[in-house]
Amino acid sequence: MRTNRMQLQFDAKSVNESFARVAVAAFFAELNPTLDEIADVKTAVSEAVTNAIIHGYQGGEGQVRLFCEVKGRQIHIRIEDDGVGISDVEKAREPFFTTKPELERSGMGFAFMEAFMDEVEVISALGEGTKVIMRKEIGKQEV
Ligand code: ATP
Ligand code: MG
Repeated sequence: MRTNRMQLQFDAKSVNESFARVAVAAFFAELNPTLDEIADVKTAVSEAVTNAIIHGYQGGEGQVRLFCEVKGRQIHIRIEDDGVGISDVEKAREPFFTTKPELERSGMGFAFMEAFMDEVEVISALGEGTKVIMRKEIGKQEV
């Protein structure tokens, strides 16, 4: 099967959220996604990168790594940080769960990633960081 890969590493700064989502959108443009598919992937990337910056690194210094692979009609995305990690991943993934209500976070980031992508996997350990792996098939026939 045809594959194509890229990786990026950037500072954990909010200004880089839009860079990350646009870079991913540009990368998988070769699959001729619909505007909805582009919007879905951009939103999911944006949520994961925002989480790495504000939760993983708590707004402090750090690096976010982004890996992207086009595999046939599939796009695979992995977003990694070396931040604080998540103590209870299952709980963190619940809609409306947030550890930062004072920052007016709604706790919907993971719920959006799940809604907009086909598969979302979260691997995290306290003090070691977090990896979010997402997959989506482009050009899927909706039933
Ligand atoms: P919203 O995304 O709606 O602004 P939120 O970021 O709190 O709010 P989610 O994105 O669903 O909601 O994340 C839920 C919780 O999981 C966060 O409040 C945080 O405690 C934890 N979390 C998510 N990503 C990370 C990460 N990369 N590192 C550490 N903790 C994380
Ligand atoms: Mg979030």
